[in-house]
Amino acid sequence: MKKKMICAILIGSCILTGCGQSSQSDNTSVEAEPEETVTEEAEAETEETETSEEDEEATAASRDIFAMDTYMTVTAYGENGEAAVSAAEQEIYNLDEMLSTGSETSEVSLLNRDKQAEVSDVTLTLLEEAIALNAETEGAFNPAIYPIMKEWGFPTEEYKVPQQERLDELLQYMDLSTISIEENTITLQTEEMELDFGGIAKGYTSSRIMEIYKENSIESGLVSLGGNVQTLGYKPDGSLWRVAVQNPDSEEDYLGVLEVHDKAVITSGGYERYFEEDGTTYHHIIDPATGYPANSGIVSSTIVSSNGMLADGLSTSLFIMGLDKASDYWREHSDAFDAILLTEDGTLYVTEGIADAFTTSLEMQIIEK
Ligand code: AMP
Ligand code: MG
Repeated sequence: MKKKMICAILIGSCILTGCGQSSQSDNTSVEAEPEETVTEEAEAETEETETSEEDEEATAASRDIFAMDTYMTVTAYGENGEAAVSAAEQEIYNLDEMLSTGSETSEVSLLNRDKQAEVSDVTLTLLEEAIALNAETEGAFNPAIYPIMKEWGFPTEEYKVPQQERLDELLQYMDLSTISIEENTITLQTEEMELDFGGIAKGYTSSRIMEIYKENSIESGLVSLGGNVQTLGYKPDGSLWRVAVQNPDSEEDYLGVLEVHDKAVITSGGYERYFEEDGTTYHHIIDPATGYPANSGIVSSTIVSSNGMLADGLSTSLFIMGLDKASDYWREHSDAFDAILLTEDGTLYVTEGIADAFTTSLEMQIIEK
C-alpha cells in the first residue's frame, strides 16, 4: 500500500527515479525516456544532445542507494565523480543512521526514548531549523508529530484510524517551546513528546550532497532521493536540468517540466504513503491542527529552492496550508523559494518566479505577488 514515490524525471539526461523501481544497475545514469512520457520539445532536446550524452556518459559517476526508506541515485560529472559519489553515499548512510526513527540506535530514537540526549551538530541543526519553520508556518510544520504518526500506524505500516479522544490527547504534546536545548543536549520536557525529521531529512541530505560535490571540485551533478531532486550547476553540455514533476494520479505521467540550475525541486503528496479504510484514503502528511491527514485541497506541492532542507520543509507545510495560505506565504518569502501547487480540481498554480521555466499542457494559473 505504501509509497508511490514522487517520480521526478530529468529529461535530457533522463534519470528516472523512485517509484520503487530504480532501473539503473551500474554506473551509468543515462537512460532512455519512456516514449509516451516525453514531450515533443523534450524529445527534440534528447535527440539534439545525443552526441554530448555519450561524452557525459564517459565522465558520469552514478550510484543507486536504498536508504531513508527510499531509492536514491547520486550522480556527479567530471574527473572526481567517483570520489564524490562515494563520499555522498557514505554521507547518506551516516545521516540515515543519525536521523531515522526506524533505527532504534539513531540519535532521534535515543532522544525519543530517553527524553534527553547529547546529539551531533546535524541533529541539533535539524531541530533548530524545524523549530524555526514551525514558527514561520504558524504550526503547519511540526517535528513533534511522531506520536500521531505512530497512532495512525505509519511507521510500522500497521495502519488504523485513531480514536478522536486519543488524537486530542496527543495534540497537547506538540508545543516545541517546551523543548530545552543546552549546547548539544536536547531535553524533551514531556514524557509523551517524540520527534520525527521525516519532513526535512531528505532535503537536508540533498543539500549536504551538493556541498560534498563542491568539496570534490564537482561543478555538475545531481541527486534524486525518492524522487526529490537537487541539482548542482548545469548539465555537462551547459544546458539547464529539465526536471519533470510527477502527476499524483499516475506514475507514468508528469504535471510539467521545470528547467533549473543549482536548485532543489522537492514534492510532497498524499500519494507517497497512504492506506485505505472503509473507502476513505488516509495519507501521511498530518495537519497538526487536527491530527488528521491534511485535507487542504492541495494534492501535490512542489517547492523549488537553492536550500534543499527549506524546500523539503515547505513542500510539507504548503501542502497542509492550502492554496490561499500557501500563496500568501510565498508572497512573504518569494526570495527564498518558488512553488508548483496542484489542487484537487486539477488546476496547477505556479508562482511567478518560475512561470517561464515551467512547461505544462495543463491549465496553469500564475500566483503573482
Ligand atoms: P514529506 O514527504 O517531505 O512531505 O514528509 C512527510 C513526512 O513528514 C511524514 O512521513 C512524517 O514523517 C512527517 N510529517 C508528517 N506531517 C508533518 C507535519 N505536519 N510537520 C512535520 N513533519 C510532518
Ligand atoms: Mg518535506
